[in-house]
Amino acid sequence: MSIISKDISKAIELLEAEELVAIPTETVYGLAGNIYSEKAIKLIFETKKRPFFNPLIVHIASIDLLPTIVSHVPLKAKLLAEAFWPGPLTLVLPKNQHIPDLITAGKNTVAVRIPNHPTALELLKRLEFPLAAPSANPFGSISPTTAQHVNDYFENDITMVLDGGSCQRGIESTIIGFNNEEPIIYRLGSTPIEAIEAVVGTIEIKNKKQITPDAPGMLDRHYAPKTQTILVENLSEALQIHQGKQIGILTFKTPKTNTNVAFQIVLSETQNLQEAASKLYDALHQLDKQELDLIIAERFPDFGLGKSINDRLQRATVQA
Ligand code: AMP
Ligand code: MG
Repeated sequence: MSIISKDISKAIELLEAEELVAIPTETVYGLAGNIYSEKAIKLIFETKKRPFFNPLIVHIASIDLLPTIVSHVPLKAKLLAEAFWPGPLTLVLPKNQHIPDLITAGKNTVAVRIPNHPTALELLKRLEFPLAAPSANPFGSISPTTAQHVNDYFENDITMVLDGGSCQRGIESTIIGFNNEEPIIYRLGSTPIEAIEAVVGTIEIKNKKQITPDAPGMLDRHYAPKTQTILVENLSEALQIHQGKQIGILTFKTPKTNTNVAFQIVLSETQNLQEAASKLYDALHQLDKQELDLIIAERFPDFGLGKSINDRLQRATVQA
């Protein structure tokens, strides 16, 4: 049975009754609940099997609500919010005392953003409370970018997926925190670093789970298919090494070499990084359904959204 529906009024009814609704955003689908309902927030962690030490992002309808969530806004945070909201940029700021500890994992900061999706915005405007909405997938697995992806994960666990079509951006928000009023990137995401630097100048990336090829043990397994997945610089070399296996490949553009493989997805024939980002998770979902021995992903160019895509692919390749 499908739990997918376009009925916003029904979603409001459920959220007001402290239940969860999966909602569309421009990044990925979120598993949403009232931030002030302990019942709903606990249910989010339980449903996702997400550890309680992993804080949630608060979603608000308008910048006017920011003072109800945070206690201080550094000048550069204000500039970023004005430049990118509504949009895929999350700001981590000192929390307002009314924000429950469950949301922030006990930290004195809270993550907040305004999503840029007409359905999410209408929903938030009609509700009297903000929504916590981590990605609507079991902890560690591939994020959902269609209502059907969420349905496949949580058909038996939640009542409704509010259908807002395929997510236009396709990877999670970029997260920015502050140290002594200066911004720091905590997570690469859908807002490219170059666009952020155009607003606030050079910015440090302190992506703790940042990957170095010789330290695979430091990698956080996340966004990961069940099928073994590797990320390579040289596709034809990798295909040679893994000859004889049932292989699926995932590439940015059409490969130059003849790839005689069981399954193949090209993310952007025209080499458009935004198109590739929007298709990335659906491609991983599809590849994971093919009963392959191995998924080989080819590394993206290391700039703009390519950097964010590489970050997600690296985390997808960590073994369970
Ligand atoms: P998700 O909602 O699944 O995209 O994940 C939210 C992410 O936001 C978490 O994994 C954290 O990395 C980050 N986050 C949320 N709140 C905070 C905070 N107060 N300080 C630092 N990072 C945060
Ligand atoms: Mg997530």
